[in-house]
Amino acid sequence: MRGGGAMVTAERATVRLVCAECGAGYPLDQPRYRCDCGGLLDVRQPLDALRGQISRELFDGRLGSRDRRDQSGVWRFRELLGDYTPEEIVTKPEGRGNLYEDERLTAWAGVGRLWLKHEGENPTGSFKDRGMTVGMTQARRLGARTVACASSGNTSAALAAYAATAGLTALAFVPEGKVALAKIAQTVAYGARVIQVRGDFDAAMRLVQEVARAPEYGVYLLNSINPFRLEGQKTILFDALQGLGWCVPDAIALPGGNLGNTAAFGKALAELRDLGLIDRLPRLVVVQAAGAAPFARAFAGGFAAGSFAAVRAETLATAIRIGDPVSYPRARRAIALTGGIVTTVGDEAIMRAKAAIDAAGIGCEPASAATLAGVRALVAAGALPADAAVLGILTGHLLKDGEAVVVYHGATPPPPGANPPLTIDPTLDAVKALLDAR
Ligand SMILES: *Cc1c(COP(=O)(O)O)cnc(C)c1O
Ligand SMILES: [Zn+2]
Repeated sequence: MRGGGAMVTAERATVRLVCAECGAGYPLDQPRYRCDCGGLLDVRQPLDALRGQISRELFDGRLGSRDRRDQSGVWRFRELLGDYTPEEIVTKPEGRGNLYEDERLTAWAGVGRLWLKHEGENPTGSFKDRGMTVGMTQARRLGARTVACASSGNTSAALAAYAATAGLTALAFVPEGKVALAKIAQTVAYGARVIQVRGDFDAAMRLVQEVARAPEYGVYLLNSINPFRLEGQKTILFDALQGLGWCVPDAIALPGGNLGNTAAFGKALAELRDLGLIDRLPRLVVVQAAGAAPFARAFAGGFAAGSFAAVRAETLATAIRIGDPVSYPRARRAIALTGGIVTTVGDEAIMRAKAAIDAAGIGCEPASAATLAGVRALVAAGALPADAAVLGILTGHLLKDGEAVVVYHGATPPPPGANPPLTIDPTLDAVKALLDAR
């Protein structure tokens, strides 16, 4: 067992916010999202102090514990998140999604092994809960009364639920008419004020940053520009790799929208490697929707100066309908660190992959299925070997976007895997005719 007080004090002295561009450091005890130079900030964990204190065995020993922090797939890794006291932590707990392996999907993707970590099985149905538990905990540490985000729906649902748990007021800025019904419903139901902005996600994002800058409102921003969100999202990989017995796959595939997860994954892998918990780095494979692919375009341009330009985003996968990703610089570093790949898939391919994942009894929302569609396309193109062991991240739950399901399965002509509902008269003959016809 680790001694309590002394270590905590040592950590408090060394956890800092550090600018990713110029290296300037800032204290943790004030709200701040950007450096004076405009760069994004990272939470710098005291890895030197932690080396030797944490191990696979420490984390594995917490599986099966009844401590709420250990039951959270986020706070189980708390040494790598900061120095919060048990009383400060706002947890449900979250981060308990399954790690699936389904032979049909492995074959469909065309790889050697395929695991799917289901982040849609979080309390509000997306990985955003992992970021929000840490972000809301930090909000409480700072004494914030009001928290806010711009969202295409999942962040606002998580914000609303965790603010309700913490007893804080939540403001959710969403693009009017662009958010799936279930996500708006969650946000309203959990008690956040939903502010529909006449504009797209990127417009809502710009607006909420202005609101957070205005000191008179005292609003703490919990978008993924907030570095504490990313600390929570790092644990997707900690948790998934622990589930794989700390064996590192060849590639880790995820959808890319605002690129917070991509950035968080790069940080997670760097920390695990520096601490000796893993001995090699997997390639990150980021998949964007073809209609919302500024990161893929920059990657294709070798990330050269001028290769990045914001786009007007359009895709059916609303969670990644983002044209001006806020974490672009840190996501670029994650790709460089891991020799990663950024690719695109069309909406049709996304929905086909989704139908396959759904029909396997697993299910996910459209953005999540970009993961599998991207892996399949990369293998077909020879960019990933056919014997690759791949970990895919399913980011959101099937029920997040019921409209997309109904539209896909009801389309004419029927798309691959279409399974439209049937309507009959209430007679046995009608059932018989139907079953005989199959
Ligand atoms: C937020 C979200 C994404 C995009 O993640 P980023 O970190 O913004 O790239 C993908 N899928 C789902 C379901 C999401 O909620
Ligand atoms: Zn700076």
